[in-house]
Amino acid sequence: MKSYSLQGQAALVTGADSGIGKGVALELAKAGAKLLINYAHNQVAADQTVNEIKSAGGEAFAFQADVSHEAEVQAMFAEMFKRYGTIDILVNNAGLQKDSKFVDMTLDQWQTVININLTGQFLCSREAAREFIRRGVVQERSKAAGKIICMSSVHEVIPWGGHVNYATSKGGIMMLMKSMAQELAPHKIRVVSIGPGAIQTPINRDAWGTPESLEKLLTLIPYNRIGQPDDIGRLAAWLSSDEADYITGITIFMDGGMTLYPGFADNG
Ligand code: NAD
Repeated sequence: MKSYSLQGQAALVTGADSGIGKGVALELAKAGAKLLINYAHNQVAADQTVNEIKSAGGEAFAFQADVSHEAEVQAMFAEMFKRYGTIDILVNNAGLQKDSKFVDMTLDQWQTVININLTGQFLCSREAAREFIRRGVVQERSKAAGKIICMSSVHEVIPWGGHVNYATSKGGIMMLMKSMAQELAPHKIRVVSIGPGAIQTPINRDAWGTPESLEKLLTLIPYNRIGQPDDIGRLAAWLSSDEADYITGITIFMDGGMTLYPGFADNG
């Protein structure tokens, strides 16, 4: 039993057919929100998320859209408004990696990651903010006119060789989030980021897929376990609630201590 409720609120989670996005969608639904489950390609997986929510008594539907395409994002929000009338919570979660050594990185690898991870968050946030401002606060739903949660990463502060495009996208999300938070706060819109550490999802299977790789990964995590999507899901649900009403413009790292410079734990 949660100490707060998102009952009656409408939430859109991008990339909610897999990993963290799915974990976030399930926790938002548990708190009473109705969901748009966005996915890029995998309709079967998106339908499964929808079915899990429905069989637990919640409300959800799936919608395909590439978050880096303006027209697809606008079509997705149009469908959201048609089904639910409005939006209360946006979780900008969709993201991917296209890894390469810096000197070998192609323009396509660079642009794909920036377009999806960063521009996708801009496009979705802009549509949500327009609606939050149009509608304003509805007291019986929430103290805020709207909430935007950006899925960042520990790599908004930890440089990451071999992943320059990804780390740049997450550094960009930090300033996107903070600048939106500053501009939108007078409209009673809260904007926050979650900075996950290593969470066990398909995006980083190489890092946990074998006992050896997992052991190596755990040397970077003082708390000595890999995170799970529901860890992030619970934080996202709480941040969406009025319990977190005075929080805006910050990143909360949820990383088992990965940002604590674990290499210095034993004198460096
Ligand atoms: P994942 O691969 O399981 O999920 C990624 C999701 O993004 C999928 O649902 C995919 O469909 C969606 N997606 C990709 N391209 C898209 C597009 N163009 N349009 C719409 N959706 C698209 O990986 P994950 O670990 O769940 O990643 C989710 C988010 O969390 C990403 O932003 C990632 O950078 C971030 N993150 C993950 C970790 C981790 O350790 N897993 C750590 C820090 C940050």
